[in-house]
Amino acid sequence: MRLSKKSSLIERLLPYYRLLLEVKWHFIGALFFSVLYGVSSGFGMPYMAHKIFPKIFGPEPPSEVMLLLVVIYLPIVFLIRGMSGFMSTYLASYAGLKVLEAIRCRVFSKLQRLSLLFFQQRKHGDLLSRTMSDTQNLQQMIVGVSNDLFKQPISFISAVGALVYLAFKNEQVIFVLFSLMIIPICVLPIRYFGRKVFKRAKAMQEQGGVIMECLKENLGAVREVRAFSLQEAEVSKFTNIVRHLFKIQLKIVKYTKSLSPCIEFTASIGVAIAIYYAATTRIQLVEATPLLVALYMSYEPLKKMGVIHNDIKRGLASLERVEEVLEEPELIKDAPDAVTLETVKGEVQFHDVSFSYGEGPVLNHLSCTLEAGKIYALVGPSGAGKSTFIHLVMRFYEAISGKITLDNHDLKQIKVKSLRDHIALVPQDPVLFNDSIANNIGLSRLGSTREEIIAAARKAHAHDFIQSFPKGYDTLVGDRGTRLSGGQKQRIAIARAYLKEAQILILDEATSSLDAESESIIQDTLKELVKGKTAIMIAHRFSTIKMADQILVFDQGNLVGLGDHESLIQEKSVYYDLYQRQRLL
Ligand code: ADP
Repeated sequence: MRLSKKSSLIERLLPYYRLLLEVKWHFIGALFFSVLYGVSSGFGMPYMAHKIFPKIFGPEPPSEVMLLLVVIYLPIVFLIRGMSGFMSTYLASYAGLKVLEAIRCRVFSKLQRLSLLFFQQRKHGDLLSRTMSDTQNLQQMIVGVSNDLFKQPISFISAVGALVYLAFKNEQVIFVLFSLMIIPICVLPIRYFGRKVFKRAKAMQEQGGVIMECLKENLGAVREVRAFSLQEAEVSKFTNIVRHLFKIQLKIVKYTKSLSPCIEFTASIGVAIAIYYAATTRIQLVEATPLLVALYMSYEPLKKMGVIHNDIKRGLASLERVEEVLEEPELIKDAPDAVTLETVKGEVQFHDVSFSYGEGPVLNHLSCTLEAGKIYALVGPSGAGKSTFIHLVMRFYEAISGKITLDNHDLKQIKVKSLRDHIALVPQDPVLFNDSIANNIGLSRLGSTREEIIAAARKAHAHDFIQSFPKGYDTLVGDRGTRLSGGQKQRIAIARAYLKEAQILILDEATSSLDAESESIIQDTLKELVKGKTAIMIAHRFSTIKMADQILVFDQGNLVGLGDHESLIQEKSVYYDLYQRQRLL
């Protein structure tokens, strides 16, 4: 995956500017309360030490009113600090989570637009990890960082302000210079650990993807694992992956948790120098105390800012992984002048089309015309290029050279949705969604009525078996349709095709999953379905091939024959060999 290099954090966040605009009031509110929090803690505390301590501990006993004011000062400062702290965190989190929600939806909708080639090159586990775990990481960063994003810098500035104010008031400028000198030194470990954390966080997320992939693979092959007694090998593979993750995680713990002690140690040197200076210059306790409180109040936010820096680095590592998906080029998309075809006759032509999935050529300079309203069977040995042919008609992939036309329109000049609206696909192993049977049929034409769905199911000879379920059309089919047999799933797929009423039909004949009875029912329904349509069938059985007007014979990526059964038999070529072999079976 490619990711353009972006230099600054501002540039990184620019694409999200629009998203932030939607929550601008929450941001402004968060900023306001952060100022209140920062000032009440950064300035309020030292100021209290400066004003109250001399009154209580001075030579004169304080008056009762003064004492009362002094006593309520503390809870008021803490009340303001607490309430504004909560509001600032709440509002910043709201804004952050809202942005995250939009990013998650962007990733998901981007995944819908990416080509099959993209999914073929990626591991599903990695994509799951990017959509779920990386966005989850971002969420944690946003909530965690929102807590301190404004509060800590403002507390820091207020505390330094208090320090400068008090120092000038008490003519202790040297004291301030000494103590502030330490601050730039504290930035060094923040930067060092931040870089380390970023690198490891990325590795951790990648490893998370590997775990997800391993789990997915294992759960998808429970039968094979048992049949081949692979349990131990699987456990050992998983243990190794998890162990590697453990090592990376521990490194992250090391780097994140080393930072605070480093800053604290550096800060303690600053405080020690300040105390030493105060002792040698004989500053009074009442003057020194507020200065020391201000000093502490400025180091505390600095420490927290270091932690935020680490959190941001972790979040950015995830953001980078999410952005790799968001910035992936969309290979199959509408040309600016692409048209919508309202109706089509259904003539498909290949003009000198070549194709490759990336390695060797898969289709070589293929030219042919599939006339509207006729039935075509694609035959040939396995790996000859039949599925690739139909993938190109559906524009799942783009031809490398040559062009494919539908009713003389280049497929690239037709809107992708419009093209696919005119094609109904009945795949070899149909995938059913975890939903009711009615919705599974209805998805081929969203918004269709129950009557239309039932009519389509009747034509597909699926109505009777659907009705035999206690909940009929409302029966949930289970994950990937596991509750239905191969033949039943095929009939649901055919019902989808009936409902879609598309002019072009693409059928990939189920090979061995059907029993003889299902096979004959399905062939009957197919005969009805293809009437008057341009039908392209990958046919394995000669009983199906017989339905075709024309046969396209594929061999090693070449179209080696085109004609009807009789003429192809007479040519005594690849088709003849295939026919002979089937007859012997
Ligand atoms: P058929 O449908 O005739 O069995 P295919 O069109 O599926 O043949 O495959 C043609 C060739 O392309 C084969 O060599 C196959 O290995 C290769 N192929 C098919 N699908 C892919 C893919 N998604 N990625 C890479 N190679 C593929």
